[in-house]
Amino acid sequence: MSVADPVANLQALIRCPSVTPAEGGALTGLETMLKPLGFTVERMVASEPGMPDIENLYARIGTDGPHLMFAGHTDVVPPGDEASWSHPPFAAEIADGELFGRGAVDMKGGIACFVAAVARHIEQHGAPKGSISFLITGDEEGPAVNGTTKLLKWAAEKGERWDACLVGEPTNPDVLGDMIKIGRRGSVSGKVVVHGVQGHAAYPHLADNAVRGALSLASSLMDPPFDTGTPEFPASNLEVTTLDVGNPATNVVPEKATFAFNIRFNDTWTADTVKAEILRRLDAAAATNPLRPGRDSTRYEMTWADRPSHVFLTRNDALIGSLTASVKDITGKEPKLSTTGGTSDARFIKDYCPVVEFGLVGQTMHMVDERVAVADLETLTRIYGDFITRWFADAVIR
Ligand SMILES: [Zn+2]
Repeated sequence: MSVADPVANLQALIRCPSVTPAEGGALTGLETMLKPLGFTVERMVASEPGMPDIENLYARIGTDGPHLMFAGHTDVVPPGDEASWSHPPFAAEIADGELFGRGAVDMKGGIACFVAAVARHIEQHGAPKGSISFLITGDEEGPAVNGTTKLLKWAAEKGERWDACLVGEPTNPDVLGDMIKIGRRGSVSGKVVVHGVQGHAAYPHLADNAVRGALSLASSLMDPPFDTGTPEFPASNLEVTTLDVGNPATNVVPEKATFAFNIRFNDTWTADTVKAEILRRLDAAAATNPLRPGRDSTRYEMTWADRPSHVFLTRNDALIGSLTASVKDITGKEPKLSTTGGTSDARFIKDYCPVVEFGLVGQTMHMVDERVAVADLETLTRIYGDFITRWFADAVIR
């Protein structure tokens, strides 16, 4: 098998059922592809009490700078009901020009293409003028505790330093060449418990309905908007995700109501300032609750979810410029530089080096019949190959 063929690479990877936290043979498969190319491959197992151990992989070719990292994950989300798939999720069958399987686009496809691109680069130009590394985790789709964060820390403690990183997550909404991600919004979640006084629904003056307080507090978080967006980011947005009272009686005023929320915020804020703004709004709403006229302040407790995701924006012309030029050259499209979507492991990598994301078309990720156009695999391999050549040429001149 030639690892210069992204289709064969992807089929081999999909046939390893690596549903988080299982390694499923996927990292071993990747190791088998990289070693003959001249990579030194290390497997790093990360542990955390109460969580399954996770296998990760770090591979490097070259000893000098400049150093380009490719990052991603081989773990996949569960396939769901396999009977719903038109081709089995771990069979990697090709039909009508499309390759079917869990992880086809998210993101074994990206890895398969980058391996092929590196193989072709070495075939044509010899070893890279610097170093290329693969930083691949088996824990991106899960809790992400034993994955990229620990792998980065482990590698950095061994003295690894990187000049730039490309994450191969599927970033294109419709067509290959649509979108490069140059940053991500931050994310903070929390839970609010509102306390009232239980009572008879017919004697409300003796009770204090917690639902009134919860509605008022929740509304204060949803309106007015936190900001109107920035040139690089959409407006920050908070959604109340659940509101629970659990009161089965129609004649009882509830004493407790709970709601939870999640905010995706742009670089107008940090995790700390956005939390402060949320508390300011809650305190203001608690003090002036229009749904409880003449009553004392609403009593509430706030609990923040662990580990907020920090917002980031990459400003690195060499990295963004090279990738944009490669996408344009190969696809003829001008990619949009975007910060939309959920969080990704790029949020951890940004603490070590500039990072951007570009991969396949994301339409079928996490869905039944996840699939990729075979032609896209070749195109992405050519984009990655062009990018490797450009980035090293540019980085060496610098
Ligand atoms: Zn992914």
